[in-house]
Amino acid sequence: MTPTTPTSQVRSVCSYCGVGCGIVLDVGMGPDGRRTVLKATGDKAHPANAGRLCTKGATTAEMLSAPGRLTTALVRDDRGAEPVPAPMADAVAETARRLRAIIDEHGPDSVAFYVSGQMSLEAQYLTNKLAKGFVRTNQIESNSRLCMASAGAGYKLSLGADGPPGSYEDFDRADAFLVIGSNMADCHPILFLRMMERVKAGAKLIVVDPRRTATAAKADLFLQVEPGTDLALLNGLLGLLVEAGHTDPDFIAAHTEGWEAMPEFLADYAPDVVAGITGLDEDDLREAARLIGSAGEWMSLWTMGLNQSTHGTWNTNALVNLHLATGTICRPGSGPFSLTGQPNAMGGREMGYMGPGLPGQRSVLVDSEREFIEDLWELPPGTVRKDGVGRGTVEMFQKMADGEIKACWIICTNPVASVANRRTVIEGLEAAEFVVTQDVFGETETNAYADVVLPGAMWTEGEGVFVNSERNLTLTLPVADPPGEAMADWRIIASVARGMGYEKGFSYDSAEQVFEEIRRAWNPVTGWDLRGVTYERLRSEPVQWPAAEGGPARNPIRYVDGGTGELRFPTASGRAVFHARPHLPAAEMPDDDFPFVLNTGRVQHQWHTLTKTGRVAKLNKLNPGPFVELHPEDAAALGIAEGDRVEVASRRGRAVLPAVVTDRVLPGGCFAPFHWNDLFGEYLSVNAVTSDAVDPISFQPEFKVCAVSLTRVSAAPAPVSAPAVIVPTSVTPHPDPLGPAPPPPPGPPAPDRPYPTASPPGPAPRP
Ligand code: SF4
Repeated sequence: MTPTTPTSQVRSVCSYCGVGCGIVLDVGMGPDGRRTVLKATGDKAHPANAGRLCTKGATTAEMLSAPGRLTTALVRDDRGAEPVPAPMADAVAETARRLRAIIDEHGPDSVAFYVSGQMSLEAQYLTNKLAKGFVRTNQIESNSRLCMASAGAGYKLSLGADGPPGSYEDFDRADAFLVIGSNMADCHPILFLRMMERVKAGAKLIVVDPRRTATAAKADLFLQVEPGTDLALLNGLLGLLVEAGHTDPDFIAAHTEGWEAMPEFLADYAPDVVAGITGLDEDDLREAARLIGSAGEWMSLWTMGLNQSTHGTWNTNALVNLHLATGTICRPGSGPFSLTGQPNAMGGREMGYMGPGLPGQRSVLVDSEREFIEDLWELPPGTVRKDGVGRGTVEMFQKMADGEIKACWIICTNPVASVANRRTVIEGLEAAEFVVTQDVFGETETNAYADVVLPGAMWTEGEGVFVNSERNLTLTLPVADPPGEAMADWRIIASVARGMGYEKGFSYDSAEQVFEEIRRAWNPVTGWDLRGVTYERLRSEPVQWPAAEGGPARNPIRYVDGGTGELRFPTASGRAVFHARPHLPAAEMPDDDFPFVLNTGRVQHQWHTLTKTGRVAKLNKLNPGPFVELHPEDAAALGIAEGDRVEVASRRGRAVLPAVVTDRVLPGGCFAPFHWNDLFGEYLSVNAVTSDAVDPISFQPEFKVCAVSLTRVSAAPAPVSAPAVIVPTSVTPHPDPLGPAPPPPPGPPAPDRPYPTASPPGPAPRP
């Protein structure tokens, strides 16, 4: 696009993963007269990335200029009818009227909210305020339930509060890294590069994964575990650390509780036992313990591989145990650091957008915390309910399918593609009386089920705060004009709330006013503190919480008193807690009918359900389509050749994917990315297959392990090549490292294709 006026440069943040890289946007006037982002480069002054961007962040401008944006609301009167464009004011009024009517007839718990870690802090806060304070329902869930819920629950149980105790600075001081259940090279590339700089300087890298990923390819020690055996491994490592005298008795005595139960518990995890459960060599176990025990400082890094498990919370506890036992926490270079999947999932957790959460790391289950928030929201005592708290995303859609929840407002997320065993979501949306979605592009798998679609603005088209994996707040500024009647999410939420009769609680003139209210929710118990953060300050620099008034912009270590140096965890005793967490098998293990274990995940150049990266031709060239990886021994036994179309079937549904035959996966295992869904073809959705068994504490589904059969369907339509294991490099220093844009791939949403009316294909029974 050729600008017609000189460009300006504005600092912002990447909208993809939780690394939260700072970007600099070149902004000019487009030929249509709208302010437009022309180019994105890395922000050299941003603490998260110091100028680097991965391919996803570097193609931000292409994504922002992609066709297919919603410019008006879309409304349909009947489920079978064509949705038609409607004035935004009418759609907002209709949404408010119908939600109000359903609440009046069926009560507050008949309406549910399903939100996202891609919304701004202000939008997340307002949705929770509307749900819990005004509608008076606790039926609010977010896609973080699929992503980080186990890490959050585990942190709370082990350390007393959610969020990492350390920071990205720790990467530059660590002598060893334990990366477990995380393919950082593909999913958090810029942090991976930072880690590899330290590894090149001599730090040791241990990678634990059932799949030999791009991250594993760089490991000093790769532990290719059997899926779902992390608890046995972590307990075994702790036993070996104890045996070798690598624990820190002074730290344990001064700062922890629960240690007395651990020696007897660990006796069940002798190296030979652990080797038997995990499939690892005893020598490798001992080497991993030696590397950890001999490191002066070490970090653990994890994400979906530990979280998406029916014992995901326990996985976090067992990992934190290693740090507590060795005293390697809350000091530079050390600590358990959970990597976040979305750009503002950390903010959403702070705003309490899952289940019982309340702003400022609070809960409706605590009387004093409900009272605090009622006071903040100027509501009468007793308004916020402590009853009616749900059990996560899967249960919410099940309640919808059962007719208990009759209306759902889905904001900035795509559950038809992303929820495990998505059949429940489809049944829920079909059964609901009223479905509202809010998104930026018209074509998504979930929008196809909506009665009303509200056009959201991109993060570059309004103000808002995003909090990354390390608690760092970056302000986005309105650098481009939203198309047509598209509006910032927070404005839409406030408008609907006012339409429902809640004028008093939702009359804001700006996102900054909302943020000023959020700051008042600071929590001295957990250390969640934004008192030192204002929009004015954020306009000049990002700020990391806990941020007391007058404090520095960087606050890398939590729980240590800045004045006295005293370490105190936010538990009742002030001590962190050891939890003895025994090994448990996954909820669904292979059997004669479904003899393989399916693991799902991501590829380097795509993100989530492709609502954004699927519109960028350069990224589609790099990761062009879906696949299922299976081991050569299994492929030979099943008569499957490279590129053959393979049915991956479970008790819940099926997908049909091109085969990639590779020893990257273990015999008996297979791997498929979840990015490609109905907009790209029939039977591509891996979440038609995955298990929706959930962790009983975090309610996070077990995406990483389910039992499947593999059956050859047909020969390859055309040769495919195995996706290469590409270790990322920073793309920013080169003028156009991705080369010229290739032609658009077949299949992704066509620019001007009308809004979809037909339901995407639902799960089909196994033949
Ligand atoms: S690592 Fe890539 S996707 Fe993640 S925030 Fe940075 S540039 Fe964006």
